[in-house]
Amino acid sequence: MHLRLVFLCLLCLSISARAAGQRPNIIFIFSDDHAYQAVSAYGGKLKLNETPNIDRIAHEGMLFRQCYVNNSICGPMRAVIQTGKYSHKNGFLRNGNKFNGHQQTFPKLLKAAGYETAVVGKWHLGEHMPPQGYSYSEVLVGQGPYYNPPMLLDENGDGTRKRVKHIGYTTDIISKLTLNWLKNTRDKSKPFMLMTQHKAPHRNWQPGPKYLTKWDGVDLPEPPTLFEDYSKRLSPARTQEMQIDRDLTRYDLKLDPPRGLTKEQLATWNAAYGPKNRAFEEAKLTGKELVRWKYQRYIKDYLRSIQSVDDAVGELLAYLDESGLAKNTIIIYCSDQGFYLGEHGWFDKRWIYEESLRTPFMVRWPGVVKAGSQNHDIVSPLDFAETFCEVAGIDVPSDMQGRSLVAVLKGKTPKDWRKSFYYHYYEYPGWHLVRRHYGVADGRYKLVRFYEKDVDAWELIDLKADPLEQKNFYGQKKYAQVQKRLHAELKRLRTQYDVPDSDPAQSFEVGDTPARYQQRKNK
Ligand code: CA
Repeated sequence: MHLRLVFLCLLCLSISARAAGQRPNIIFIFSDDHAYQAVSAYGGKLKLNETPNIDRIAHEGMLFRQCYVNNSICGPMRAVIQTGKYSHKNGFLRNGNKFNGHQQTFPKLLKAAGYETAVVGKWHLGEHMPPQGYSYSEVLVGQGPYYNPPMLLDENGDGTRKRVKHIGYTTDIISKLTLNWLKNTRDKSKPFMLMTQHKAPHRNWQPGPKYLTKWDGVDLPEPPTLFEDYSKRLSPARTQEMQIDRDLTRYDLKLDPPRGLTKEQLATWNAAYGPKNRAFEEAKLTGKELVRWKYQRYIKDYLRSIQSVDDAVGELLAYLDESGLAKNTIIIYCSDQGFYLGEHGWFDKRWIYEESLRTPFMVRWPGVVKAGSQNHDIVSPLDFAETFCEVAGIDVPSDMQGRSLVAVLKGKTPKDWRKSFYYHYYEYPGWHLVRRHYGVADGRYKLVRFYEKDVDAWELIDLKADPLEQKNFYGQKKYAQVQKRLHAELKRLRTQYDVPDSDPAQSFEVGDTPARYQQRKNK
């Protein structure tokens, strides 16, 4: 007994010694639906925008080119990050599910190990319980609006919440609250882990007052597949509802102004959009010209929303510099998934195809990560919880399903690092009508199965032969060997991750039913 006490005291001493200086702080900057095509550090053929502040993290750290998401949609990816587990293990398979906050999450582990933990901004794992494992939380309600957001504040992390109404542009407000926590609220004797999570650039892409007219009078480049006809694809590519030509509403296109603005905000808005909208109404566009106009309106509002996120990143980096915190703080920029910027004629996400599978991810860690380095390993938000545990000196729990990225960040990727990746999307029926599918991706090939009874079929993608993913090579003689290998790999991964044979989403059906979806559509 006596010896155990001595041991415990020594353990406490060692944790508090580490807490005093060595253990790094972690700042996790997260945005919602930010496509890598809209981060200038990723380059790319279509140079759409400049994000100098986000790029700075990559220039002073590591840029990941193959960060794959497990289930390309908002709530589920947040649950993956909290738990380090696939959706079928953490129980949050689709938006509308309720996150079970009583389960093991990395913020709880860090808090117990002496970290000060905070989340500010978009939470999106439900309001049925406050975020668990945080010393402080101030989060949007649901998706949250772009202007004047009500937020739920839990100042001491004790589960007592109050509703606070803010007036202003949500991205700017999240930036201000983040800096306020860093400067004034946190316990400065502890290392900290801060998640600052933006609503932008989620649909319906409402820019802040500063950027309402940016790119007016300029035509941004179109993706080569804007007018794709899906003739060489399986039926799910045709039956989705995320087409720029057909599925954007007047509200998306800003032909109707946003709701919930103050009188002054609405006047500023109308001064910017009124003349543009009048010119559009007078032009009476049809056919391809109308689609092109819709694309321009969509892409500009999307990118305008991102400019404010980039500003917020700039303010945060400036504060880290001036406070001296930069030196011992790991800073991460990431989005919950990718997004379609007109590729295949689409907006939104959900598919295993490149633009929604890959998410932007970069890490600055002074003294550890080589500045300006680029990484091509297959990494995933599934690995974040494990990484944060290792950084904090916590043994990674054996039931987490990813792998710590610390060695990868040091430029020493282990030889047995994953060479292929399991993906699974569950939300059908639901928004945008993307059919349920799972698959394996190895950086060049993808083997995909749409497995619902009425559409059950396989797809084989070869990114080298068909980089825009417009063809299905499944069943072609030339691909017989590749196909066989990928089938085996898919089976191996489903066993490794303990994926149930029957779709677990069936028992979690709390979102749309076909009848409810139809009702909403008919409104
Ligand atoms: Ca999202």
